Amino acid sequence: MRFTKFGLTTLRDTPSEAEIVSHQLMLRAGLIRRLASGLFTWMPLGLRVLRKVERIVREEMDRAGALELMMPAVQPAELWQETGRWDKYGNLLLRMRDRHDREFCFGPTHEEVITDIARRELRSYKQLPVNFYQIQTKFRDEIRPRFGVMRAREFTMKDAYSFDLDQDGLDKSYQVMHAAYTAIFERLGLKFRVVDADSGEIGGSRSQEFHVLADSGEDAIAWCDEDDFASNVETAATSGLDGAPAAPAQELDKVSTPNTKTIEQLAEFLSIQPEQTLKTLIVEGDEQPIALALRGDHELNAIKAAKLPGVASPLTMADPATIVKVTGCKPGYAGPIGLDIPVYYDHATKLMSDFVAGANETDMHLTGVNFGRDIDTPETVDLRNVVEGDPTPGGKGTLSIARGIEVGHIFQLGTSYSEAMNATIQDQDGNDITMLMGCYGIGVTRIVGAAIEQNHDERGIIWPEPLTPFDVVLIPINMHRSEPLREAAEALYAELTDLGLDVLFDDRDARPGVKFADAELIGIPHRLVISDRGLEAGELEYRHRRDEDARMMKRDDALNMLTGS
Ligand code: ATP
Ligand code: MG
Repeated sequence: MRFTKFGLTTLRDTPSEAEIVSHQLMLRAGLIRRLASGLFTWMPLGLRVLRKVERIVREEMDRAGALELMMPAVQPAELWQETGRWDKYGNLLLRMRDRHDREFCFGPTHEEVITDIARRELRSYKQLPVNFYQIQTKFRDEIRPRFGVMRAREFTMKDAYSFDLDQDGLDKSYQVMHAAYTAIFERLGLKFRVVDADSGEIGGSRSQEFHVLADSGEDAIAWCDEDDFASNVETAATSGLDGAPAAPAQELDKVSTPNTKTIEQLAEFLSIQPEQTLKTLIVEGDEQPIALALRGDHELNAIKAAKLPGVASPLTMADPATIVKVTGCKPGYAGPIGLDIPVYYDHATKLMSDFVAGANETDMHLTGVNFGRDIDTPETVDLRNVVEGDPTPGGKGTLSIARGIEVGHIFQLGTSYSEAMNATIQDQDGNDITMLMGCYGIGVTRIVGAAIEQNHDERGIIWPEPLTPFDVVLIPINMHRSEPLREAAEALYAELTDLGLDVLFDDRDARPGVKFADAELIGIPHRLVISDRGLEAGELEYRHRRDEDARMMKRDDALNMLTGS
């Protein structure tokens, strides 16, 4: 491809709307352009990368025996009413009406449609196992679209759905997808981890996520190599800590703590560490508000809390008026002593002694609080996110925490959809069996952003070779002033192309510095520079995008290296 024919516009300045580096670089390098919030055009350069991702995904899905089909993006409401998701899915679902006033949605996922296909098409156990997949546009009206294509509203997903006769079959289908996903992310050249995930409301038995590791990742993941443990922090369990709290050393006291609504403000005001405080959060409950008590430095886990008896799901913080009503004080000063609603205590509070808690009086806290003396020693539950250094649930090691970007998700659905939609099949004895389903998603467009998060430097993108839009960028120096150089550059471009390489030939009449900067921004792994001086010696200048310096190479050596011969 000739640069002058490619219509590529790069941007020198970082667009202000882009918060993270992949979004900035995708805009600057001209991979995508924004149309509206969460909607992006894939420009020719970006589409080349996207197609490479799609190809690898497709090849591995085919190799795993999955069958590609293509379902409509627009789906009738009736199907979603059958599973109850028309109401449950909420505002994420983009709803619309046709000219006959019938209701539709733009599919955020395709369980309903594929289950409808399955109940119509699959009659006999002989047709199982089967796994259908598609690579297709989804729409989710995300509450906060951000990070460019990583959390877009319209995006491309590879979604697959397996159908089996029994749990054994489902386990096998799931394992096949686990292996296919592993192969996909290895082939993409990305550093990733597979972690246990929350199986959500649907209550499937098994669910795992594939995360590309990157500091900007929205998800925290916990793992321990000694224990072979890896889990999304959302689901990683904390164990009840062994041991007993230290004996009380302080008297219970009430102190004035004005303007200390947060744990940080309180700890600073009292010159103590946040872990010496107990934070008491008031949340909505099924019948009455409920208090959740955690060590001050710990973070509440909304998924765990919402599963506790009596707590509203999804977890909802009580509004200020409710807090005032149940505590008798302004928000920020709630504490367990004298509180008239149920309190759940996190496991880690069990070891606390001489701690600080809200006094249920505005601007007041209690110090020197001790279980067994000032409050009954409570039963404890798992309420918090795990932190670095926590023991693993298996107890053999300690946890490390890293950030990840969820690029894939595999999920055993069981019969939740097939039951609701009556998708049955005849077994060997002629009995009607409800099919067991699995679903398997990959964020195809998100992968491009995730790959950049993991592979860039201050000058731009550094594409992993399987994803690069071009293999080689060929840069002639001042070609427009030297006819011999022009001829040599054209010949080299033709030869590289004939060798099967995808070449970006920077034939612009532009300064070398401009061309170098663009090549680095775009992130093409191999750069060849051809100049009059090199021409005389029969040499080219070569530099890998990750190399510190360029080096001169004989023309043939450079070509052999690039073709791997
Ligand atoms: P998230 O937790 O990031 O919102 P999810 O768990 O809701 O994602 P799934 O329903 O598991 O998403 O969808 C399968 C895959 O589709 C995800 O693993 C992710 O890679 C991708 N994906 C989901 N939402 C988006 C989005 N808004 N933009 C781009 N990709 C997305
Ligand atoms: Mg998911």
